[in-house]
Amino acid sequence: MNDWQFPSVIDVLWRNPRRSADEIRARADEQLRRLLVHAGEHVPLYRNLWKKHGFDPRGVRTAQDLCAAPMVDKNAIVEAGDDAVDSRLAGQPLDTMSTSGTSGRSITIRRVPKEMRLTRRSYLRSLMLVGGRPWHRTLTMASTWLAKKKGVIMSLIARAQYIHPKTPIDEQIRLLHETRAQYLIGQTGGLYLLAAELLRRGETFPLRIVGPTGATLMPMMRQAMRDAFKAEPRDLYGAVELGTVSWQCRHGSYHVDADRMVVEIVDEKGRPVPMGSAGQVVCTSLYGYTMPLIRYKLLDVASMLPGKCPCGLPFPMMGPVQGRINDFLPTPRGELVSPHYLYHVFDHAGSHPVKEWRIIQHAVDRMTYEYVPETSFDPKALEHGMNVIRERFGPELKLEVRQVESVPMTPNGKRTCIVSELKPDDFGGMRPWDRRAAAGMSADLALTSE
Ligand SMILES: [Zn+2]
Repeated sequence: MNDWQFPSVIDVLWRNPRRSADEIRARADEQLRRLLVHAGEHVPLYRNLWKKHGFDPRGVRTAQDLCAAPMVDKNAIVEAGDDAVDSRLAGQPLDTMSTSGTSGRSITIRRVPKEMRLTRRSYLRSLMLVGGRPWHRTLTMASTWLAKKKGVIMSLIARAQYIHPKTPIDEQIRLLHETRAQYLIGQTGGLYLLAAELLRRGETFPLRIVGPTGATLMPMMRQAMRDAFKAEPRDLYGAVELGTVSWQCRHGSYHVDADRMVVEIVDEKGRPVPMGSAGQVVCTSLYGYTMPLIRYKLLDVASMLPGKCPCGLPFPMMGPVQGRINDFLPTPRGELVSPHYLYHVFDHAGSHPVKEWRIIQHAVDRMTYEYVPETSFDPKALEHGMNVIRERFGPELKLEVRQVESVPMTPNGKRTCIVSELKPDDFGGMRPWDRRAAAGMSADLALTSE
């Protein structure tokens, strides 16, 4: 469409990282106003929704005013069908990307090539800012659009190679050697298993960059990657429907891609929580015109951080994602346990007894812990971890511990450590931003902070 503006490749890769934070913000606000007018005029979903809520897009001057608009979630977008798309394009062939649907319904996002290109460029930028260069040899573990569509810039990474997370592990290790990879990027769970297998064989494979993405990077995963690849993992947080949201710089801070994304941290009603407090992540993709995502709920819990990172980048800082909202588990005592607590249960056990695990909460007082033992399995360390869980959830908890052959993978090769079978009512209004839950959670995070 002629009226759609996009930042140039020079802006994304070169100019924006060198602009001031104020300038980035002012330009993003200007683009936000443009996007809201566009959505209000051409996208029936937003036109109708905003009318119903009495929200006037022309009243928004800056990202701070955005909280007056209603939030949307995956279901709203899926149910809207063609109404979620610019009505001038509905029914036309467009590029599509589908999410896995592991966390609920699958959603198909429709984009034009310019929008896809911008998403890839911002991903490329996050790699370049941690020292990546196009001539470095890259191995990407992916099963989604990244593996299929390289685009012009991605093809410039001349020796980029792809592996599917379901490729047998021997073959993965062979590819690592054959391509003499310098970067390894892609699915967190898959990179972790590769690192764990190398360590099991007593091998290492030094890399320049390890860039996991697509799932919460748990401390045990980070440690395995650090040991196997001799590099500090640079975690990247994003979603298929939005692209990159934030990524770790050389100093380890997560920076928000603020030149193409508005990130808000809010409570369940969509009201902003104070700086530094935990809340749910809500994103607005500034250059998604075809199928706009405005105040789109990602169902993850994180916080924004004040101050400036020593790396000097103008992009605001965000804390690490503390988990998906549904990964926070309520206890029989009416508290909420952060998934980070569960990732750390073996911290003081002397050894790490499990290779893979998952926890299934059947009811507030009933859980199953499934694990695949580590080669150096120590039953005492396992017992220690299970006691940590029992202590946190209280004496009412019935915990079944079960050894399994493997933890099931989702169809696209992702792993979920936390499975909740609870209904929304079981939470009784407990969410990470509620006061009672927040008290329990900050205790968890204090206990588990490295
Ligand atoms: Zn930084």
